[in-house]
Amino acid sequence: MSEETEHVKCLIIGSGPAGYTAAIYAARADLKPVMYMGMQPGGQLTETTDVDNFPGYPDGINGPQMMEDLRKQAERFDTDVRFGWASDVDFTGPVHKVTIDGKKQITADSVIISTGASAKWLGLESELRLRDAGGGVSACAVCDGFFYRDQDVAIVGGGDTAAEEATYLAKLCRKVYMIVRRDEFRASKAMVHRINKTENIEVLFNHETVEVLGDEGVKGVRLLNNKTQETKEVDITGFFVAIGHKPNTDIFKGWLDMDDVGYIVNKPGTAETNIPGIFVSGDAADKVYRQAVTAAGTGCMAALDAERYLAEIEDAVEV
Ligand SMILES: Cc1cc2nc3c(=O)[nH]c(=O)nc-3n(C[C@H](O)[C@H](O)[C@H](O)COP(=O)(O)OP(=O)(O)OC[C@H]3O[C@@H](n4cnc5c(N)ncnc54)[C@H](O)[C@@H]3O)c2cc1C
Repeated sequence: MSEETEHVKCLIIGSGPAGYTAAIYAARADLKPVMYMGMQPGGQLTETTDVDNFPGYPDGINGPQMMEDLRKQAERFDTDVRFGWASDVDFTGPVHKVTIDGKKQITADSVIISTGASAKWLGLESELRLRDAGGGVSACAVCDGFFYRDQDVAIVGGGDTAAEEATYLAKLCRKVYMIVRRDEFRASKAMVHRINKTENIEVLFNHETVEVLGDEGVKGVRLLNNKTQETKEVDITGFFVAIGHKPNTDIFKGWLDMDDVGYIVNKPGTAETNIPGIFVSGDAADKVYRQAVTAAGTGCMAALDAERYLAEIEDAVEV
């Protein structure tokens, strides 16, 4: 299967904020990192227009531009940034094997996984169209809630994340409609209590989204009551989806410790996984914060941990 094999000291899989930050640190430590960008060069932030909460940009920054800046910074220190995706791994031995695009084999002394996570969407044509047009559909209240200050918004979901994001939005927005498909929450009792005591959240149980209304921006949402089969329209300007994320970690299953959703488990306070020399950073291991700045922070940790690991194995060889 293997067309060619190449050995690298430090392989970085993924080109979001975590991967690029790991690359900057690894390159400056002379680890000569090679990065494969994957199917979405630049990662999730290439899907958004304004990033207003990444430190260092007082006027905000366009998501794709920010990722271009990070790429240039990583390349300035000679990171070898390549097109291609990791299609398979073999972490049996001390030298780790990663297959690229199903054909090229890389062996690496250290691997930094920064493959991110993808938000789940309802899959409605109107939802995806308005999302892609930057027209008021979002999967991140913390990122985008600020743009809807004093406006009416809706959030879909009945779990802890949806409840948390609904209460976050309620502090900024005039009114928050919480659209829950079932007749009860999946969220914890504590979260449900918070929802119930927040006056400007209206919970619509047994409701499903039929269509997000609006041509260039969200103007409302059409809902179906799945008990009565009645439909109704609610006026909103922001539509948030909080039905979960899927970490992009399928190829590591069976090798790395993961939780039941597929988030890679790191050793607390480090970027180490259960396999020496394999490190993880960013949303692939983070179901709690999922922010560019936290991804960048753990990218830094992964590179520093990789540097120490490589120094230790070099010392061991010399002794
Ligand atoms: C629409 C939107 C708006 C957002 N706005 C903000 C914001 O304003 N502020 C903020 O802080 N956060 C925001 N976020 C969240 C932020 O984008 C993420 O927390 C951050 O991008 C996570 O970084 P990451 O490096 O872990 O992964 P990602 O950005 O998800 O990047 C993952 C990378 O891994 C690559 N990859 C995946 N699988 C493979 C593979 N098998 N082989 C090779 N490469 C692979 C992908 O191609 C991609 O390059 C937003 C998210 C979205 C979706």
